[in-house]
Amino acid sequence: MNTISFADLKLAPEILKALTESGYTIPTPIQAQAIPLVLEGCDLMAGAQTGTGKTAAFVLPMLQKLLPDASSSASPARHPVRALILVPTRELAIQVEESVKTYAKHCKLRSLVVFGGVDIKTQTPHLKRGVEILVATPGRLLDHVEMKSVQLNQVQMLVLDEADRMLDMGFMPDLKRILALLPKQRQNLMFSATFSGEIKKLSAEFLTRPKLIEVARSNATAENVTQKVYLVEQADKHVLLAQLLRGSDATQVLVFTKTKVAAGRLAKQLQKDGVAADAIHGDKTQLERIQALDAFKSGKVTVLIGTDVAARGLDIDQLPMVINYEIPSAPEDYVHRIGRTGRAGASGKAISLVSPEEEKYLKEIEKLIKTEIPKETAVVPHTPKARAPRGEHHERSRAPRAEHAERSHAPRPAAPKKPSHDPWFDKPYEPSGAAATPAKQPEQAANKPKKEVAAIFVRRPS
Ligand code: AMP
Repeated sequence: MNTISFADLKLAPEILKALTESGYTIPTPIQAQAIPLVLEGCDLMAGAQTGTGKTAAFVLPMLQKLLPDASSSASPARHPVRALILVPTRELAIQVEESVKTYAKHCKLRSLVVFGGVDIKTQTPHLKRGVEILVATPGRLLDHVEMKSVQLNQVQMLVLDEADRMLDMGFMPDLKRILALLPKQRQNLMFSATFSGEIKKLSAEFLTRPKLIEVARSNATAENVTQKVYLVEQADKHVLLAQLLRGSDATQVLVFTKTKVAAGRLAKQLQKDGVAADAIHGDKTQLERIQALDAFKSGKVTVLIGTDVAARGLDIDQLPMVINYEIPSAPEDYVHRIGRTGRAGASGKAISLVSPEEEKYLKEIEKLIKTEIPKETAVVPHTPKARAPRGEHHERSRAPRAEHAERSHAPRPAAPKKPSHDPWFDKPYEPSGAAATPAKQPEQAANKPKKEVAAIFVRRPS
C-alpha cells in the first residue's frame, strides 16, 4: 500500500502548490518509485502505461532539478533547452506539454511544444525566445535544428516517452541523429508500455546503468479492465458494433480500426446509424483532430474511431469502453489499446470483434498477456432484404472499390445501379469532411427507418 505523500518526496513548495491545485493528494505508484530515483540523478527505464501518472513521474523531478536555473530574465541566453522530452505523436506532445505547464505553473521555467503538420514558422519565434523544457516529435525537432532555431548543447535531461511506439513508428534514425546533438553528460529517462527485445536494445544503447522500474507486469493488461471477445464474420462486424453501442450505456467509446480508411468509413457508417461518431486519423489536419478530440471529451461525440497511431497518447479520463473493431496484428498494440480504459483505478471494458481470419492474432495476444479472454460467438441474422449477396457484402470485396473512388475523387453516383443491403456501400469513401459534422447525423437517421437486425450471442462451447 502506497501511503507516502508528495511532500515526503521532498518536492519544492512551488511544485507542491501546483499539485494541490490539481487535486492530487498522493503519488501514483510510478511516481512514488520514479521521483526519488530521478532526483538522485539515475538513468531510468520505466515500464508504465499511459494512465498510470507516468507524465508527472518524469515532469515533477525534472522541474525540481531545473528550479535552481529558473530565471525571470527576458534574455534567451538565460533560457536554453535544458530538458528535452521526445514523444511519438502530436497529440501526446500537446498533452505532455499541458501537464508541464500545469505542474510548472509556479516555477519560472518556460516550456514549449513543437510537432509537425503545422507551419514551422509559427513555432520558430517562440523557440528563439528560449525555453527550458521542450516537448517535441523527433522529425519536427530535426527541422528546427536544421533551421538553427534551436540549440541542444545544454540539454541535461532527456526523456523518451512511449519509446516502444517511437520504434514502431520508425523514429530510430531520427532519435540517433538527435542523440548525437546532445551533450554526452546528461540524465536519460525512458518510458515504455511494453518491453520488447527492441526496447531492451534501445535502452542498452542510450541509457547508462539504468534503474529499472515497472508499475505493472510488463505486457500485462490493466486488472480493472474486463475483456471480452466476440467471434464474428468480418462482414457482420458493423451490425454487431452498432448493436453493442446501442446496448451500452457507455458515454464514451474508443473504437480501433487497422487503417485510417477503415476508421473514416466506419465513422460515416455509424453516423448513418444515428451514432454521434467521428474519426481521428492522420489524414485530418491538426485542427480537425483537436476538434474531434475536444468534441469527444465534451460528450458531443460519443464514439471516436481511430487507428493505433492516431489514438496513441490520448488522455481521456475514465474512458469506460474500448472496442477493437479489428484486432491488431502486433500483440503489443492490444495492450496499448486497452490501456485507454480502466485508468486511475476506474473500471473499464475492452471488447474485441474477431473474425475467423483474425483468430491467429488473438492467439498471439493471449500468449502475450498470459490470459485467455472470454469468448462468445455472435450470430448476426439479417432480414431477407438486408442480406446482401455474400461477395458484395464482404468488407474485403468492397474495399478496392471504395479506395478507387477515393483516389479518383469520383462524384457520388446519383443512384446506385444495383441495390445492395445498405446504400452506404454504394457510395464512394469520403476521407474526412462529413465525419467532422456528427451533430447532424441523428437528425438524418431519424428520417430513415431503422434496419431491423438482431444479434444473438451464443456462448462458445468450451
Ligand atoms: P498519465 O499516465 O501521465 O497520462 O496520467 C494519467 C492521468 O492521471 C492524467 O489525467 C493525470 O492528470 C492524472 N494523474 C497523474 N498523477 C496523479 C496523481 N498523483 N493523483 C491523481 N491524478 C493523477
